[in-house]
Amino acid sequence: MPLMRSWVESANRPETHFPLNNLPWGVFAAHGAEPRCGVAIGDFVLDLAGLESVGLVEAGGTLARPELNGLMAQGPAVWRALRARLQEILAEDGADDALRARVAPWLVPMAEAVPCMPFRVQGFTDFYAGKHHAMNVGTMFRGPENALPPNWLHMPIGYNGRASTVVVSGTPIHRPLGQMRPPGAEMPVFGPSRRLDIELELGNVVGTGNPMGRPVTVAEAEGMIFGHVLLNDWSARDIQAWEYQPLGPFQGKAFATSISPWVVSPEALEPFRCAGPERERPLLPYLHEPRPMMYDIRLEVHLRPADEADATVICRTNYREMYYSAPQQLAHHAVCGCAMRPGDLIGSGTISGPTRDSRGSLLELTWNGQEPLTLAGGQTRSFLEDGDSVTLTGWAQGDGYRIGFGICEGTILPAVTEPDWEASR
Ligand code: CA
Repeated sequence: MPLMRSWVESANRPETHFPLNNLPWGVFAAHGAEPRCGVAIGDFVLDLAGLESVGLVEAGGTLARPELNGLMAQGPAVWRALRARLQEILAEDGADDALRARVAPWLVPMAEAVPCMPFRVQGFTDFYAGKHHAMNVGTMFRGPENALPPNWLHMPIGYNGRASTVVVSGTPIHRPLGQMRPPGAEMPVFGPSRRLDIELELGNVVGTGNPMGRPVTVAEAEGMIFGHVLLNDWSARDIQAWEYQPLGPFQGKAFATSISPWVVSPEALEPFRCAGPERERPLLPYLHEPRPMMYDIRLEVHLRPADEADATVICRTNYREMYYSAPQQLAHHAVCGCAMRPGDLIGSGTISGPTRDSRGSLLELTWNGQEPLTLAGGQTRSFLEDGDSVTLTGWAQGDGYRIGFGICEGTILPAVTEPDWEASR
């Protein structure tokens, strides 16, 4: 598919993340007005609540809400009709001067729009569906022979995370406090995590749910997905290592998860659909994909210390490396009868590629801290320091255009002052 040209000139630049082909959904606040739904187009946000108020689009009155959940709940036919209508009125050859004059007042310069949480997160489930990541982490802690757990090639492994601490890009992250046991020590200690890490993931957003007790097929699951965001699953490795047996990650993951503000639709990504890796073991029928369900999305992680002007790219990888697709994860999640709802967020799992510079976490990039990274300014990092800023970005590369995700940024703040535990006894 070629670039769809728009009369919004900045949307036609080859490097913009937001051409007319993309039109990602979001929520923004501008000029003192209440947060409302919008789409990104070039260097602007198009105010969908405004368009609906003057009758140019129609979505059941949900577009003035400060979250996309109302739009999501109306189902794929409404999302697609709204997207098609927006592409029509923004196309270079689709709108006459009179129509452009009615739409233009609702274009807000992105520099004047504050991106907000795009949807109310109903639940957050995080998977472990990248084989390179699972092999790296398993090799570090259990040796190469036992790196993959026996179930790994048969189902996407996941756990239920915290919806309450999913935040939008730009939200600072406090270094978490917790319990950990230093190597060789008999007793655990309490304090700020010293092994604070990132996980580069794609967040898959559920748009329509399934009733409790009613499983969905992989094909049905694909139709339930509203879109995709960048996701940084911040992780405290020392807290995680001490707590994770027998029930999996808990406090080491519960303090923060960051997402990018723009939700990229499956329609925008359709030209970039591709097959994932070969199956190493046949999957059970309920996990069979009727067609390829991965996407070719280039991803990068940038790290900038507080006292440096320039960021260093510490990872370049691609979403197509994942072993299990988002529809497979969703079908597996619902197969027991678990109800999914509009606004459920599904983390893909850390996206690592086969090479050292394509690993999606510091744990892997520095091999558990044994091989620190050297940044552009000469500083080294094993794990994150206070003041470090981490930015995820990504895009699917078309012929002369990009379907971009924008950025997902977070800066580390020092741990909050510890309460005086002794005085509170
Ligand atoms: Ca994760």
